[in-house]
Amino acid sequence: MPIATTNPATGQVLKTYDPMSAEQIDAAIERADLAYRQLGRTTLDQRAGWMNAAADLLDAERDEIARIMTTEMGKTYASAKAEVTKCATAARFYAAHAAEFLADEPADAAAVSAARAFVRYQPIGPVLAVMPWNFPLWQVMRFAAPALMAGNTGLLKHASNVPQTALLLEDLFRRAGFPEGAFTTLLVGSEAVDQILSDPRVRAATLTGSEGAGRSIAQIAGRELKKTVLELGGSDPFVVMPSADLDKAAEVATTARCQNNGQSCIAAKRFIVHADVFDAFAEKFAANMAALRVGDPMDEQTDVGPLASERGRDEVHAQVRDAVEKGATVLVGGEPPAGDGWWYPPTVVTGLTPEMRMWHEEVFGPVAGLFRVSSYDEAIEVANGTTFGLGSNAWTRDEDEQARFATDLDAGNVFINGMTTSFPELPFGGVKNSGYGRELSALGMREFCNTKTVWVGEGAGSVGPAGAHAE
Ligand code: NAP
Repeated sequence: MPIATTNPATGQVLKTYDPMSAEQIDAAIERADLAYRQLGRTTLDQRAGWMNAAADLLDAERDEIARIMTTEMGKTYASAKAEVTKCATAARFYAAHAAEFLADEPADAAAVSAARAFVRYQPIGPVLAVMPWNFPLWQVMRFAAPALMAGNTGLLKHASNVPQTALLLEDLFRRAGFPEGAFTTLLVGSEAVDQILSDPRVRAATLTGSEGAGRSIAQIAGRELKKTVLELGGSDPFVVMPSADLDKAAEVATTARCQNNGQSCIAAKRFIVHADVFDAFAEKFAANMAALRVGDPMDEQTDVGPLASERGRDEVHAQVRDAVEKGATVLVGGEPPAGDGWWYPPTVVTGLTPEMRMWHEEVFGPVAGLFRVSSYDEAIEVANGTTFGLGSNAWTRDEDEQARFATDLDAGNVFINGMTTSFPELPFGGVKNSGYGRELSALGMREFCNTKTVWVGEGAGSVGPAGAHAE
């Protein structure tokens, strides 16, 4: 894949980059390793100061950063601006909470025959981050903010279609004050990942991306015995039960499916609706989807911009065609418009059956599948009936059902009467083929820490009080 900025609204190539050579990669890893040692001599307060400075830069430069993101991958300018703000919030969150998340955790010393015993969290070194284009700033920031605050350094291999966003991230952390090499963008294709992850100086990897990329990186990491966190695809269920507020559910369903032009791992993709309310929900939902404004992503009135790539658009259409050829019905949309750019209209498909691709594959575009079920148990069976397990939604005002959904949905998160989203305060990740490990919250920060047990038989004072290592 060429490393290039191509405007998805026009198909025009705006800027191309040569991939870094093996020697340049080696030099960047060396700088990341040196910076790791340098970060080890900094205090949490210093790092928090730099992280807060990064947040201030994001706020000050929000509109320009958002414009670059929209030009590179087609998300609406309004959503790009919101993404920049969310990144600033996450940076401040980790600056404020790192001391608490990394503080020594006392253990029951008497139970382990010690004078003192505790758990200490320490950084592990340079971490490779392989990231996707769909939230080109947020996906990186939710790795970088906790990793840098913990004292690790970051090597970013971003998606090949968002090089300008990738470069501005390196520039952001440098201008915020982090030492040279603390956060480095490697302009490389996916074929360079083996060299980088095999390097003994690189201690771990995090990937947000497709199942295929996950398998490939996990294989390399397995061979090299390195830790990975994998955030992969999803085909989130959105279950609507008879007691649900149907207007609200249909309104949120529309946003949940079409956010980011339909290209979110945690977009609701399969709408599983109880037969008692199926027709009423389908009518409201289809009307909402048809009313969305598709157009220039820079226009503040636009709801849905183009898909990020021609290949992505063609894949979505192939999935819809496959369903139609096997007997499904299109209620809204279903045909890409002619002309330049990679547009796909908001689409609702019903009458899906297991032999159709849309039944079990992730659809990465504004296309919703509607499924009719006749009971709670059938809803759970269909909801859990894919290889994915990232997010999930359930709409019901019945409190017993709410409690059952929270337990029975086989996913990394369950949102009841609300849209799945991510917060710095809550862990984020999946089960099954959606990956493993967690980002965000204290758990996300500790994924790339050495969880060290410290046991002291006598003279416990010499190892210092809890949290002393952090300063
Ligand atoms: P992708 O093709 O897997 O690309 C993601 C990143 O992985 C890019 O940097 C890509 O580099 C790299 N990559 C691809 N194949 C690789 C390989 N074999 N070895 C090493 N690196 C490789 O994913 P995508 O299709 O662009 O992104 C959409 C997918 O990401 C969807 O499945 C979506 O659900 C998932 N996603 C998951 C989350 C989550 O948090 N769980 C969040 C967002 C997106 P190149 O660009 O150079 O190919």
